Amino acid sequence: MCYISFNNVTKNFGNNTVLNSINLEIKKGQLVTLLGPSGCGKSTLLRCLAGLEQVSDGTIFIDNKNVTNLAPNKRNIGMVFQQYSLFPNMTVAQNIAFGLKMQKKSKEEINKQVQYALELVELGGKQNYYPSSLSGGQQQRVALARSIVTKPKVLLLDEPLSAIDAKLRRSLQYCIREIHEEMDLTTIFVTHDQDEAMIMSDVIQLFNAGKIEQSGSPVNVYTSPVSIFAASFIGNYNQINGTEFSQLTGMAVQENYTIVIRPETITLTKNKPDFSDNCYILHGTVLGNTPRGNVLRYKVQVNDTIFRVDALFRSFHMFENNSEIFLSIPKHDCLAIANN
Ligand code: ADP
Ligand code: MG
Repeated sequence: MCYISFNNVTKNFGNNTVLNSINLEIKKGQLVTLLGPSGCGKSTLLRCLAGLEQVSDGTIFIDNKNVTNLAPNKRNIGMVFQQYSLFPNMTVAQNIAFGLKMQKKSKEEINKQVQYALELVELGGKQNYYPSSLSGGQQQRVALARSIVTKPKVLLLDEPLSAIDAKLRRSLQYCIREIHEEMDLTTIFVTHDQDEAMIMSDVIQLFNAGKIEQSGSPVNVYTSPVSIFAASFIGNYNQINGTEFSQLTGMAVQENYTIVIRPETITLTKNKPDFSDNCYILHGTVLGNTPRGNVLRYKVQVNDTIFRVDALFRSFHMFENNSEIFLSIPKHDCLAIANN
């Protein structure tokens, strides 16, 4: 069932249309990621949902209630931003308790809830610390605890991990997913990092210039990009001119189409593989390679076309530069996408 819906939501700042007639539905209990480049309107969408910005046109519903003109504090939404935004003169416990105090909860109730939230973000024992004595990652855990302690219906996270180093990010991603599940929240997570979106999401909403370009599960968005933008933004693709690819392989390609192929779907072999109905077999020359963690990315030339190919990094099995090799490209991994 749809829990949050945006219906033809438009937001203009002067002449600048930042959200262009957005239609978006989010189910209860889902963790949805808004993924897109900087400036495409992600934060504006969250701010409209939280009531921090008025929409120019359209309506927003939460739990069957039209909240389009409702004050922010009536929407029952928790929010965490990229900046830690904690009160520096308050302890961790006081920071977390703030919202509950505003709600005039009893001291006993506040203590209980603060303790629960602290355990959930794995900061048990840190209640009397001040924000300045905590690491960035710990401060963001406090901000998370503060935003969930009032038991909101919806949790909005606007690039909460962008300022945190890679290793800590992993554990915080995990922590957010756990909280989301434990509290049965409906969560919208904003990021410009496609890896993060893949790890965290039930559904990815890919944004481009104020519009939703593609929606789907991480697997769907990764394997079936609907546009060149989507193919460029999620992971890596070889993007090859349709006519050029058709000449190399004989594949029938319509005019003004690009063929996109994931580097990891191509296999390299020294010897020509047996004839295969399922693959295009091409003959090429290795130009070089770059180590990328556990894979080695080869640059391979076939006539005038360059292919990028990922192979598992095994030092005992590498192809030398300038060596001649064969590429096997599964036909079903060659996706034809219309040029914009
Ligand atoms: P994102 O979060 O995807 O990086 P934003 O939603 O912050 O993008 O911004 C989208 C566009 O809206 C940008 O061009 C930005 O300059 C503009 N914008 C955001 N907030 C305001 C504002 N308060 N006044 C004018 N322009 C704004
Ligand atoms: Mg933003």
